[in-house]
Amino acid sequence: MPEEKSKETVKQLFIQFLEARKLRKTPERFAILEKIYTTTQHFDVESLHEAMIENGYRVSKATVYNTIDLLLEANLVRKHQFGGNLAQYERVYNTNHHHLICVKCGKVREVKDLDLMSTLNTRKFNKFTTSYYTLYVYGVCSRCNRKKTKDKNEKK
Ligand SMILES: [Zn+2]
Ligand SMILES: [Zn+2]
Repeated sequence: MPEEKSKETVKQLFIQFLEARKLRKTPERFAILEKIYTTTQHFDVESLHEAMIENGYRVSKATVYNTIDLLLEANLVRKHQFGGNLAQYERVYNTNHHHLICVKCGKVREVKDLDLMSTLNTRKFNKFTTSYYTLYVYGVCSRCNRKKTKDKNEKK
């Protein structure tokens, strides 16, 4: 999906969601959505709030939290717990990727594996309707691996 089109699509989906729940369509909520969909990185609520302030939006942290909750419910944002305590979020559209998580430094890398994805997409589970799946692969990144070998060599 092209960038602009996906932004317009999610906006429409969010409008429908808010209207269905009779919630107010405040400009802050849409500004937050817009910001999230221009961010390609994973983010936490604090940094999103800071970015909003930097961009000149006077939104409170409570509004950011509240909007994230709505977007989670609307399935436009996904929540991740990459092993650390801090919850990280990312947009849902254009995110057909898996996460490789380094258990040493906590670095998260995104990878695409179309074969694996199509397998998961067609997998049906008994008495269960799948909305989405998310796959975390835990391991050690190449940098940490290099460090480990270096430390070992130095000890010799
Ligand atoms: Zn690492
Ligand atoms: Zn991701």
